Amino acid sequence: MIPVVVVGAAGRMGRAVIETIGVDAGFILKAGVDRAARPRDWDPALAWADDPDRVLNRGDVVVEFAGPEAVVGAARSCAKHGVPLVSGGTGLSEADERAVREAAESVAILRSANFSLGILALRRALSSVLSALPEWDVEIVERHHRAKQDSPSGTALGLGREVARARGYAASSLRHGREGRVGARPQAEIGMHAVRGGSWVGDHTVLLAGPGEWLELRHVAQDRVAFARGALKAAEFVANASPGLYTFEAVLSAAAR
Ligand code: NAD
Repeated sequence: MIPVVVVGAAGRMGRAVIETIGVDAGFILKAGVDRAARPRDWDPALAWADDPDRVLNRGDVVVEFAGPEAVVGAARSCAKHGVPLVSGGTGLSEADERAVREAAESVAILRSANFSLGILALRRALSSVLSALPEWDVEIVERHHRAKQDSPSGTALGLGREVARARGYAASSLRHGREGRVGARPQAEIGMHAVRGGSWVGDHTVLLAGPGEWLELRHVAQDRVAFARGALKAAEFVANASPGLYTFEAVLSAAAR
């Protein structure tokens, strides 16, 4: 059984991961880390800390769903203690990404803005749709719950960047919303639209529009358990991986071998 330390343990995703650990015989919850207070129903036999440094030992795996500040803190603690990390927090700056890459020189770190199998399948389908429809306009629409901190979502940004790369557009071709007399849409533009409200878990649509017809690729996450299950697959992978920075695709390619 792999001992797991969950960073962001009081949050929506942290709780989903803890619930999933409870029904998977391959893992045991070792500790929760969060800057928020220990939840009232937290098992008193389990450790709770505000910093992973206080609870990590070699042999553990950290699963983080908290946010940019926590990602960098967890990556540095993991490097210090020789513990692999699965990281799902989004909204990282270039400097944050650099800090994570540095930590990945000494431990295995797997980062993904989306741990669902459905999004992975959507990205594969998108790649073939883009080759079939090289001239069509692409817009990305995402919907998330009202408390989400970063916009657009890390997944929408990843999809937008993939489209830009496939089409040979500049990184600046991502256009975040439109307002006023903006004129006709240039070909080399990818419209990004973030909708916020209610309790949407995660909804991403890639819309391709051609002359007289259009096509949508859409993924809807209904329950956070979809991300939690993917993150635990990733935890199993990093537990035996050499130092380095991995993507979620690496887990699925390893499973297919
Ligand atoms: P949330 O606000 O419900 O929970 C975040 C938790 O992290 C909170 O309890 C907060 O107190 C804690 N936290 C934040 N910064 C911290 C720090 N520096 N140290 C310790 N604890 C800290 O948010 P959520 O909906 O659970 O999402 C968390 C993150 O995961 C977000 O960045 C979100 O975009 C991302 N997310 C990723 C995926 C994926 O598949 N990769 C899926 C869903 C959400």
